[in-house]
Amino acid sequence: MKISELLNQDAITISFEVFPPKKRENFDSVLSTARSIAQLKPDFMSVTYGAGGGTSDFTADIAADLQKTSGVPMLAHLTCVSSTREYVSRMTEVYKEKGIENIMALRGDIPKEGRICDEYHYAYELIRDLREKGDFCIGGACYPEGHVECEHKKDDLRHLKEKVDAGCDFLTSQMFFDNDVFYNFLYRARDIGINVPILPGIMPITNKKQLSSSVAMSGTSVPPRFSAIVDRFGDSPEAMKQVGIIYAADQIIDLIASGVRHIHVYSMNKPDVAEGILDKLSEVLKDRSI
Ligand SMILES: Cc1cc2nc3c(=O)[nH]c(=O)nc-3n(C[C@H](O)[C@H](O)[C@H](O)COP(=O)(O)OP(=O)(O)OC[C@H]3O[C@@H](n4cnc5c(N)ncnc54)[C@H](O)[C@@H]3O)c2cc1C
Repeated sequence: MKISELLNQDAITISFEVFPPKKRENFDSVLSTARSIAQLKPDFMSVTYGAGGGTSDFTADIAADLQKTSGVPMLAHLTCVSSTREYVSRMTEVYKEKGIENIMALRGDIPKEGRICDEYHYAYELIRDLREKGDFCIGGACYPEGHVECEHKKDDLRHLKEKVDAGCDFLTSQMFFDNDVFYNFLYRARDIGINVPILPGIMPITNKKQLSSSVAMSGTSVPPRFSAIVDRFGDSPEAMKQVGIIYAADQIIDLIASGVRHIHVYSMNKPDVAEGILDKLSEVLKDRSI
């Protein structure tokens, strides 16, 4: 099923993200974890893509397996900055053969050691290629606080509009811990003429280290309220897990109450966290109508 069809229905959706293993020997355990998340019956799931190298097939393999065994529609990620056009073409064919109809089209981070090849520079080029290569539903990434590499938010938003115009059916946001940041972004995006669905990406922070590494990579700001929570509970793993789930659920409740229809959760291969969030929202999600 195309995710664009799901997003155009008048119903609230909740989706989960998993990531593939880096090494083949971990494939079975990651697949089993991802299957446990699929058993929670989210509206769709996404499988991230390890840029370049030999692990990129795992994304397609996991997505295809989950789609077949659980019936949950899959969104397979694909990055382009470290790939040739020929490689991207090949991956696209693999996705088609495996019945993947939805692709999250990304540039990917530029490797620290520099570009491996010089064929793709931005995600919009990949999106244009995918539009030509097949009848895919295409997602793109967006950054409520601006992408780390872009100095001015206004320029980042202009680039985002170009990316949507290249053929994105929907956008998913980078994590944020203050919903006002998302509402402000949504307002600016609509104002510039971006009219596709924009899914907030919610990251449950269930351990202290995860917060510092995620923030360092993404540049996401941490509001004082959340900093205080992590300061108070960060050294107690079970307490941190509990408050991380509650904080994410609280963000989701506020988003839904404010009229946001579609929620994407970075469930990070943690079935217990995904289940914990659904548990906190059990009554909230009972009536999915708008
Ligand atoms: C929802 C989500 C999912 C992700 N999944 C993955 C994953 O599976 N695998 C992975 O490796 N990474 C993933 N990432 C990380 C992502 O690859 C990085 O953030 C990367 O640095 C940017 O990718 P992009 O697709 O947003 O790039 P782009 O949209 O190309 O933007 C990258 C930068 O270039 C600028 N830019 C865009 N167009 C132009 C232009 N025409 N001229 C000048 N500047 C321009 C933008 O303002 C921005 O600063 C994900 C991020 C998000 C938010």
